[in-house]
Amino acid sequence: MLSYRHAFHAGNHADVLKHMIAIQLMRYFGQKETPTMYIDTHAGAGIYALDTGYAAKNAEYANGIAKLWDRKDLPAPLKEYVDLVKALNPSGKMRYYPGSPYCADRALRPQDRIRLFELHPSDAKILEDNFRKLEQGAAASGQRPAVRGKRVMVEKGDGFTGLKALLPPPSRRGLVLIDPPYEVKEDYRRVRDTLVDALGRFPTGTYAVWYPVLQRMESRQMPEKLMRLPAQDWLNVTLSIRTPTPDGFGLHSSGMFILNPPWTLEPMLREVLPYLVSALGEDEGASFTLEVGEGGTPGKVRQPM
Ligand code: SAM
Repeated sequence: MLSYRHAFHAGNHADVLKHMIAIQLMRYFGQKETPTMYIDTHAGAGIYALDTGYAAKNAEYANGIAKLWDRKDLPAPLKEYVDLVKALNPSGKMRYYPGSPYCADRALRPQDRIRLFELHPSDAKILEDNFRKLEQGAAASGQRPAVRGKRVMVEKGDGFTGLKALLPPPSRRGLVLIDPPYEVKEDYRRVRDTLVDALGRFPTGTYAVWYPVLQRMESRQMPEKLMRLPAQDWLNVTLSIRTPTPDGFGLHSSGMFILNPPWTLEPMLREVLPYLVSALGEDEGASFTLEVGEGGTPGKVRQPM
C-alpha cells in the first residue's frame, strides 16, 4: 500500500524523538575510525518543505521541531539535532525539515556508507533529486566530498528485502534504521521477521526501529516481540505528548526500539527525555518510558524520576 507520504508528518514529535536518537547513534559510530554502513530501509523523501504542500496542510511540525526552535536551554543532544535542522535553514526561518537520509548525510563521515531504500516512486525520485542537489552544492562549495557515488546509494525498492543483501557490511560496523509507515498490519510482522533474518546475518549490528504507540494489538505487542529477539541487549523508549483521545485519533505517542544499543544511549536519554516531556507535552498525559534489557528477556522498566 503506497498511500503514506511522510511529508504530512515531517518534524512532528515522533520525528523529533527518532531523528535525535538517530543522530546520536551516528555520532557514536563515528568515534571509531572504521567506516560505518548506515542502512535506512524506509528512507522517505530526505528533505521536506514545511511551508508548502503536504507538510503545511497538517502542520504537525507545530507539535515537534517548532517547539524547540527558539529554545536556548536545549540539552546537548537536542541542540545537536536542532542545529542540524537549522543548518538546512540558513535564512533562520523554519522552512525545511530533514528526513533521516539528510540527518545521515550530515552526521556521518566521508568514509561511511549510506544505503537508502524507498518504495514509493514519487518519494524515491524526490530523494534522488535531493541528493543530486546536495552533491552539486557540495561540489560547488568545494567543502565536502561528493555525497553520491560510493558514499550514498538510493534504491527504489523494498527495504525489508533489500537489507538482506547488505548484511553483514564489509567493515562489520553497521547501523540500520527501520521506519515503516505501519499503515498495514503486515509491517509489524515484517519488521520482526526482517530483524530475525538480519540478526542471523549480522548479530552485532545496531538496529533502530521506530513504531507508533497505538491501541491496535500489533502495536501494543511490538516491543514485547522485539525484546525476545536474540540480540545482546535492547533499549525501548517511548515519548507521549498528551493523553490519548477516546476515539484514538491522532498520534500521541511513539517509540524507538534499539537492538544492540551503544552504552551511551541510556544515560543520554535519561538526561533528554524529561526535557522533551516538558517542552513538547500538551497535557498531564505527557510522559516517557525507558526500558533496557538483555536480548530474549523482558526489561527493567525505568520510569521518569
Ligand atoms: N525514515 C524517514 C525519515 O525519518 O525521514 C521516514 C520514512 S516514512 C515513516 C516511511 C517511508 O517508507 C515512506 O516514504 C514509504 O513510502 C516508504 N515505504 C513503505 N513501504 C516500504 C518498503 N517496503 N520498502 C521501502 N520503503 C517503503
